[in-house]
Amino acid sequence: RTVFVNGEYLPESEGKISIFDRGFLFADGVYEVSAVINGKLVDYAAHMERLGRSLKELRMAWPCTRDELDVMHAELIKRNALTEGIIYMQVTRGAADRTFNFPKGEVTPTLIAFTQAMSLVSNPNAVTGIKVITTPDLRWARRDIKTVMLLAPALGKQEAYEKGAQEAWMVEDGFVTEGTSSNAYIVKDGKVITRHLSNEILAGCTRRALMRLAKEEGVEIIERKFTVEEALAADEAFLTSASQFVMPIVEIDGKRIGGGQPGPVVRKLRELFLKEATA
Ligand code: PMP
Repeated sequence: RTVFVNGEYLPESEGKISIFDRGFLFADGVYEVSAVINGKLVDYAAHMERLGRSLKELRMAWPCTRDELDVMHAELIKRNALTEGIIYMQVTRGAADRTFNFPKGEVTPTLIAFTQAMSLVSNPNAVTGIKVITTPDLRWARRDIKTVMLLAPALGKQEAYEKGAQEAWMVEDGFVTEGTSSNAYIVKDGKVITRHLSNEILAGCTRRALMRLAKEEGVEIIERKFTVEEALAADEAFLTSASQFVMPIVEIDGKRIGGGQPGPVVRKLRELFLKEATA
């Protein structure tokens, strides 16, 4: 694989950063993951917009211009002959002597990116639906910023796998916040319910695309928080993320949802999303 490190395209074995990088020492960094289908980026503009917001919220400098980021993404697709998969990119505040406060003077942000080839469109999980568990939300209070501080989500996802599930829905005060790497939805009486945007969840780019597609299709989406009990009694459940798109959920904490089959609303929404993404 060819990876990108601070302006250079290198074989992955040569992609290296400093041990003093603040991303490594403090999780002082932000990231984005964009899907690639048929060699083309999906929802890319939304990801770059969110990157700008994350950087601003952390008072972090852009590592280069938006145009240069566009070139980086295009070059990585080309150099790796990527037809389907994801591009991961990360920006940190840079490498500096270790102090909690921001380093004094000019620090050069670190920018790295790499590709992962994977099959996203014909994902067998989308046919069967996946299982999720619920787990306490152990994260900090600014989940709207896409930081690389991912230990709580990593623990949650590991717990899910150990219990034979594929995702964990994180719960706070009895209400589902979101998945460890996805937004969470339930369907009741034909209406989609998903948590409203706030500092408590990440504003998913796939969530935004889904809201638009649902509106065009006349599917009502109600933005409010929902409890685990409500989810267990729902007709359907699903999640969205850049790499999973719209993914049906057929089991929550071992309890079948909607008869254990992906329901009509989620199937329709996935179809609409893929139609646009593969166009
Ligand atoms: N919430 C969290 C916590 C996430 O990590 C992700 C994946 N980035 C999402 C939601 C979904 O966001 P997106 O649709 O932009 O991938």
